[in-house]
Amino acid sequence: MSNASLICDLARQFYDLGWVTGTGGGICIRDGDHVLIAPSGVQKERMTPDQMFTFSVDGQLLDRPLDPALRPSECTALFMTAIRLRDAGAVIHSHSMHAMIASLLFEREFVISEIEMIKGIEGMSFHDRLVVPIIENTAHECDLAASLEAAIRAYPQTKAVLVRRHGVYVWGRDWVSAKTHAECYDYLFRAAAEMRRLGVSDASFSSQPTDAYARR
Ligand SMILES: [Zn+2]
Repeated sequence: MSNASLICDLARQFYDLGWVTGTGGGICIRDGDHVLIAPSGVQKERMTPDQMFTFSVDGQLLDRPLDPALRPSECTALFMTAIRLRDAGAVIHSHSMHAMIASLLFEREFVISEIEMIKGIEGMSFHDRLVVPIIENTAHECDLAASLEAAIRAYPQTKAVLVRRHGVYVWGRDWVSAKTHAECYDYLFRAAAEMRRLGVSDASFSSQPTDAYARR
């Protein structure tokens, strides 16, 4: 399958998850020095491979679809930031309700630990404290580029940045890794919101042995 077909295929799956509804969200896949980017403002679950834009990794437009009405994704500058700074092979921008709600539960950083799905994030284990920076939203998506870059530089471990009242940007070394990360983060965002709603704290029923257990 070509990367253009793959973007269409993944967008259909992400649409079903509620990540790219209402024409929001997006995805890009890098192939060497080229980056394939979906168009802006289209029905993401109905995209076709001939609607993709091709950019160089330094942001030059190399190829565009024949349809003159199509414009490259509003996320282009943000995708390029993750590709440049993290050598990402794919970047997913999700408008998931779980990401949006998670961005309202924490002030500057989303934090969670001791949840199995943390292991799905490269380099993380069950007991690690997973931290995702939260940046403030702007009226126009392209204006997020500077704060996204600052967050990526300030959090060298992170594979995602939450955008308050908006969604999340997630990346990986290739599309499989980016998709895995996006699924695990989304699960963790949802888990945090559900735990908060149920009054369950991170520390409740900790896997660390209690004093009573340790004395036995
Ligand atoms: Zn967005």
